[in-house]
Amino acid sequence: MKFGELFLKGRNRHDFISLLKTNILKKLRGFDCHLVETQGRLVLSDYIEDFENEIIERIQTVFGLIGVAQAFEFDTNLPSIEDVVVGAVEDSGGSKSVKSFKIETKRADKTFEMTSMELDKHLGEVVLDKFPKLKVDLYNPDLIIYVEVRTNKKTYVYTNLLPCAGGLPLGSAGKAMLLLSGGIDSPVAGYLMAKRGLKLEAIHFHSYPYTSVQAKEKVIELARLLTKYVDEIKLHIVSFTEIQEEIHKNCDADYMITIMRRFMMRIAKRLCEKNEAGAVVTGESLGQVASQTMQSMTVTNSVIDIPVFRPVVAFDKEEIMDVARKIGTYETSILPYEDCCTVFLPKNPVIKPTIKRVEKLETKLDVEGLIEKALATEEVIVVR
Ligand code: ATP
Ligand code: MG
Repeated sequence: MKFGELFLKGRNRHDFISLLKTNILKKLRGFDCHLVETQGRLVLSDYIEDFENEIIERIQTVFGLIGVAQAFEFDTNLPSIEDVVVGAVEDSGGSKSVKSFKIETKRADKTFEMTSMELDKHLGEVVLDKFPKLKVDLYNPDLIIYVEVRTNKKTYVYTNLLPCAGGLPLGSAGKAMLLLSGGIDSPVAGYLMAKRGLKLEAIHFHSYPYTSVQAKEKVIELARLLTKYVDEIKLHIVSFTEIQEEIHKNCDADYMITIMRRFMMRIAKRLCEKNEAGAVVTGESLGQVASQTMQSMTVTNSVIDIPVFRPVVAFDKEEIMDVARKIGTYETSILPYEDCCTVFLPKNPVIKPTIKRVEKLETKLDVEGLIEKALATEEVIVVR
């Protein structure tokens, strides 16, 4: 397994790697295996080979890793390297589609008799000798044979390097509270922030009985789909019904959504404090709807004094949908059940709300009391 070297400077290195190892082993819960770090690589061994594909699939979802391959490990010496490389070509050369190849050597062991370049050339000749129909292609080969000669006197040879999730190890950046609706955008936002090392908890506001039980179940399912990447999610489900009714009764319709969003942020802030989360994550995208303008964001941010991360703020809908498909949340997100935002929806929500006006409208509400009552409805589900 390869990880992003950039983040491995100085004292952080040790913490980074041990967190990464813990996260990998959590993903492999239930599989017997042995995991060690050797010079910039993590090596997993002693697992039951029948489970190899499933193990690799799981490793591919670990944030902080950039690549995984099934490698041959053996004691370094030139004849063995030649044999294993030839064997690796044989294994993959069974398919007729391989017409060209390239050797990519990394020689960390400076006591080894050849340099990387000499070894590339030498092994290339060995392969050509055995398989005269193959051609060397340095730019677009059908097959790359990686050879790593490491300082622990072991050599690793592999061909099937697969991409992993990238980013930073989960938890290395702390914890955040995801505002999770039933839509396409918020699960994607959660995934993207988790990828930057944030553990996630989530809040969902429902407006039962205006919204259905299925709407809530859909959100639980979305959280469950995210756990493919983030281990587990503590989901806080909070009733928004009374808040919406009160705003609807007392405030101007065009400010309905603006005020709702301020309540969401205030409640999110309280739950962050209680659960030691340091930021809020939303799926807002600039200009997508009236409540997602700069002015709207100013007015919602002004009730919360911790960072509000909006990782898809610069994404087009198509781009968000592409990520949703990639991470497997899209199909669930497009199920028809409405979330609370669509209840009492005004025809013409304000595009450029002002703090002055919103504060004036909110004087008609018992803001603190409504927050307390909403928090009292909280239901917590740990989704795995
Ligand atoms: P999404 O696709 O994520 O539902 P959207 O395009 O429908 O987003 P809005 O409904 O304006 O946009 O919501 C913007 C953001 O506010 C959402 O991405 C989500 O983070 C948060 N949000 C909206 N509704 C809820 C809800 N019922 N519970 C929790 N968070 C919500
Ligand atoms: Mg929505």
